Amino acid sequence: MIFLDAAATTPVRREVIEAMFPYLTNQFGNPSSHHELGQLAAKALAAAREQCAAVLGCHAEELIFTSGGTEADNLALKGIALARRAANPARNRVVISAIEHPAIADSADYLSRVHGFVVELVPVGPDGVVDPAEFAAVLGGAGAGSAGAGGASVGEDDGGTQAPGADVAIASVMYANNEVGTLQDIPVLAGIARSLGVPFHSDAVQAAGWLELDVNVLGVDALSISGHKLGAPKGVGLLYVKGSVPLEPLIHGGGQEGSIRSGTENVAFAVALATALRLSEAGRAESAVRVAALRDGFIDSVLEKIPTASLTGHRSSRLPGVASFCFPGTSGESLLLELERQSIMCSSGSACAAGSDEPSAVLSAMGVERAVAQTALRFSFGADVAENDLVLAVRELVAAVATVAKLGR
Ligand code: PLP
Repeated sequence: MIFLDAAATTPVRREVIEAMFPYLTNQFGNPSSHHELGQLAAKALAAAREQCAAVLGCHAEELIFTSGGTEADNLALKGIALARRAANPARNRVVISAIEHPAIADSADYLSRVHGFVVELVPVGPDGVVDPAEFAAVLGGAGAGSAGAGGASVGEDDGGTQAPGADVAIASVMYANNEVGTLQDIPVLAGIARSLGVPFHSDAVQAAGWLELDVNVLGVDALSISGHKLGAPKGVGLLYVKGSVPLEPLIHGGGQEGSIRSGTENVAFAVALATALRLSEAGRAESAVRVAALRDGFIDSVLEKIPTASLTGHRSSRLPGVASFCFPGTSGESLLLELERQSIMCSSGSACAAGSDEPSAVLSAMGVERAVAQTALRFSFGADVAENDLVLAVRELVAAVATVAKLGR
């Protein structure tokens, strides 16, 4: 089998299994227990949090372990929006990009339907890039450049003034898109939000393991990460929220995770995530260069051998491991089946949208026609991708496109 769907998920690394194993077996304590077994678990949890904080360049207390990227995104968007509006009812707008993962897009929709927030989408260009000037304009800061050195603090109450951005509860723009791999200039976008006193969240689920995650370099107020894209198990994630940013809990109970996310902590998975994050950070720069070179060779080869194919997303500012295309005259689902017959696993877009007849919201936002969007395929590579496998995959893809186009399905 050739697995070219690493953006959907990755296998758990052996070192990760070894690191988490004791906390599933002999050191199975509850970190809230005062006896020795509990305290061993509490220590492991604290060490895991410290390890994650070292990668993100933040304080350990600014990290909340969650059940995955989806929960981290929900907590960031809803938690910050609700807390900021409770402090100042004028903050009634939520600003997100038009190509967010459903974990953000549907959370924004919930905030609109149930809590009456006004949600505004920042458009993207044909390559999926958010234009910083458009972002500034939507935030209400067309003159963001003159908003003043340092800007307002996102933690303080501005008393409901009508300054640009004062009515925005939170802004969120993803670091790297899960369907087309396009990257956003997060430091620039975060800087615009900061100059207007708006807390800025970024979904870094796809970026983690490939790109810089230091929150000081990025300038973000909140950042989401998921374990299973990095070699940790499915069902664990992490949310960074800067200490000064207010956050309303979504899960209430025993007060774990600083009372932001109650529930007995999943110590083994927190250890797993910390180990995976540490290991991927150690090899990140080298893998990114190697895999990006293979990705570029793959893209060139597909475009050369299949003249009808078009690349989706930005040509170079994209995740090292993501190559995504449309193949007009075919169907993404049929191509997927043809490739699967040859034991090649890829995706017809995001794993979450698979099986749905709706064209991808991401491709629609990028201006791709509905019929063309239904011919999309995403190939995503892990850090250990082999060049030979990519050569084979191109050969099978050429054959699959010819077969599907001929049969007209
Ligand atoms: N955000 C992005 C960009 C993703 O790609 C995904 C998963 O594919 C998620 C959020 C959700 O993460 P999880 O599967 O851990 O809930």
